[in-house]
Amino acid sequence: MIVILLWVMLGFVATEVFSWWLHKYIMHGVLWNIHKTHHSKTKGFFELNDVFTVLFGGTAIVLIILGSETLDYRFWLGTGISLYGCLYFVLHDVLIHKRLKWFGRPKLRYLSAITKAHRAHHKTNTKEDAESFGLFLVPKRFFNEEEK
Ligand SMILES: [Zn+2]
Ligand SMILES: [Zn+2]
Repeated sequence: MIVILLWVMLGFVATEVFSWWLHKYIMHGVLWNIHKTHHSKTKGFFELNDVFTVLFGGTAIVLIILGSETLDYRFWLGTGISLYGCLYFVLHDVLIHKRLKWFGRPKLRYLSAITKAHRAHHKTNTKEDAESFGLFLVPKRFFNEEEK
């Protein structure tokens, strides 16, 4: 049981670390042309940037299918990635970007820090000089700063 939980947690944490890296060095690098659709002010309901969501979701689905027969580590890794994806969707796409109008302004300290940190990331619409590339790993200062 503990081992299962560890694989799920590893899947979750690895997704945050990997997406931080991908976001900072690749999406704000060679794949900026795709990612910039998420930074542009005029957005439709879907953005070209959503292909990254498909990529992460696809990886999770493949792992779950590969591990589904014996419920081995691949199944639980895929579960961790999926869990991350669900939370990421609710926080990043719904709470922060309001792609669906489910919530108002967050009151919990951690959620409001996540929101401020990601808003700071969106302050610039350029490839360079963006900050705060993760979602759950919030730099400490966003817990104290007043909303600008
Ligand atoms: Zn970005
Ligand atoms: Zn965003």
